[in-house]
Amino acid sequence: MNSSVFNQQIVLPFPNEITLHIKREDLIHPFISGNKFRKLKYNLLQAKAEGKSKLITFGGAFSNHIAAVAYAGKENDLETVGIIRGDELESKISENPTLTFAQNCGMKFEFVTREAYRTKSTPSFIEKFKEHYGDFYLVPEGGTNSLAVKGCEEILISEDVDFTHICCAIGTGGTISGLINSAKANQKIIGFPALKGDFLSDDIRKFVTNSNWELQSDYHFGGYAKINEALIRFINDFYKQTNIPLDPIYTGKMMFGIVDLINNGYFPKGSKILAIHTGGLQGIEGMNRNLKNKNLPLIAI
Ligand SMILES: *Cc1c(COP(=O)(O)O)cnc(C)c1O
Repeated sequence: MNSSVFNQQIVLPFPNEITLHIKREDLIHPFISGNKFRKLKYNLLQAKAEGKSKLITFGGAFSNHIAAVAYAGKENDLETVGIIRGDELESKISENPTLTFAQNCGMKFEFVTREAYRTKSTPSFIEKFKEHYGDFYLVPEGGTNSLAVKGCEEILISEDVDFTHICCAIGTGGTISGLINSAKANQKIIGFPALKGDFLSDDIRKFVTNSNWELQSDYHFGGYAKINEALIRFINDFYKQTNIPLDPIYTGKMMFGIVDLINNGYFPKGSKILAIHTGGLQGIEGMNRNLKNKNLPLIAI
């Protein structure tokens, strides 16, 4: 199973003979979107090799990872349990499109308080789940581990060697680590963190040894899942101009950053930029419900 998707040129009037393409990883699977498909691939094989029949993982209310694991479990005959951040969500599953989708795929939920969620990686927390659920394969939050990085090393293929810059959004750093490992030494990999986090560079260094990468940390819009009208307008304009949908949590912020850097002269003349569309479009519906409650403009996709 070696999947690859096409690179689509973004035909907008960029200065300095710069070209921009986007790798449509969002189209790799109808429900296991973009990088989550890459990150789960070898973890699913490992779970099966270990004879596990159950996956347990973690995530927030609109998590692309939760949706992806739920569907992957259904597709692979594995039971799934999602440990969900926020005990107030337990009574609101039907109002939450991501959790409703996951539940329809057969995922069981454990709703935990934000305090308890913070301790989720401790042995005692995991031991409690072992007592309750028996033997399982643990997929870490956001799905990042060395098998996930291995899967993300397959995003770039031989025809991508001519790009000078490769850009992606960052949550936990697994995806960019895979890109860094498989890019050529003369290519530069630029990550756009979707959250405030000084720890990200150290997390990435756990998986990579090359140094031809950097983070652009000014495009998180206030933090994880925080958005404003300027970002919504950008996503809607971009969709109108290119017909390519972006999600508000990751790829919208990345693309906003790329265009801003292009317009500010960051990229040398003639740069050939490849942006990775890591997917995440399932989160738009839930985000729009929040925007509606706040009387903000909706994402028009
Ligand atoms: C999870 C996710 C990311 C972040 O990937 P990491 O490997 O955690 O850095 C980026 N984009 C989208 C759409 C995602 O769902």
